[in-house]
Amino acid sequence: MRLVFATGNQGKMREIREIMEGSGYEIVSMKEAGVDIDIEEDGTTFEENALIKARAVHDLLPDDLVLADDSGLAVDALGGEPGIYSARYLGHDTPYSIKNADIIRRLEGKVGKERSARFVCAIAAVFPDGTEKCVLGTIEGQIDFEEKGEHGFGFDPIFYVPELGCTTAEIPELEKNKISHRGKALRLMRRELLEHESTDHQ
Ligand code: IMP
Repeated sequence: MRLVFATGNQGKMREIREIMEGSGYEIVSMKEAGVDIDIEEDGTTFEENALIKARAVHDLLPDDLVLADDSGLAVDALGGEPGIYSARYLGHDTPYSIKNADIIRRLEGKVGKERSARFVCAIAAVFPDGTEKCVLGTIEGQIDFEEKGEHGFGFDPIFYVPELGCTTAEIPELEKNKISHRGKALRLMRRELLEHESTDHQ
């Protein structure tokens, strides 16, 4: 069966191919499947937004297994901001150097656990029979006092992981995939897919 991942992001496609390897699915991006649409993410949670995207692509490709993700950074001292608005924080096209500096500024005076934050990733699946599944992966960390590291993207340079002793921008992509919110959610989803398949054929 074909698995269509509702993203245009090549990094995400690499990661899903790596994690789903051996699952028996032919893995293609939404674009490779001939779908090029803008989907309005007007949900109020990561899970809702992932499901909105997966359902929109499922409507166009009902015979495929469709997966979609939604992710972001939640900072506890900021009431969970930027959360589902992570990509749009201070404007879509604002450089991350400015977004990151702003988050650091808003945490002025806070130390240690008062700077706690997590990356969250929801992955939703819609099967050809209409069944829907959604899983959530997280990684816990703290907002650093300055940007560090050249790997990764977005908020990685300010996301310090105490167990690693560095930010997620200071480790290579393959290392990050092993511990990241998206890696965890993808592995949980792989398990869901295998379970769905085994109940399907009973
Ligand atoms: P998306 O839903 O995967 O497109 O992610 C939305 C936004 O969340 C991104 O534009 C980033 O601002 C932020 N984000 C999600 N995952 C990560 C990550 O692994 N590192 C840094 N920023 C992330």
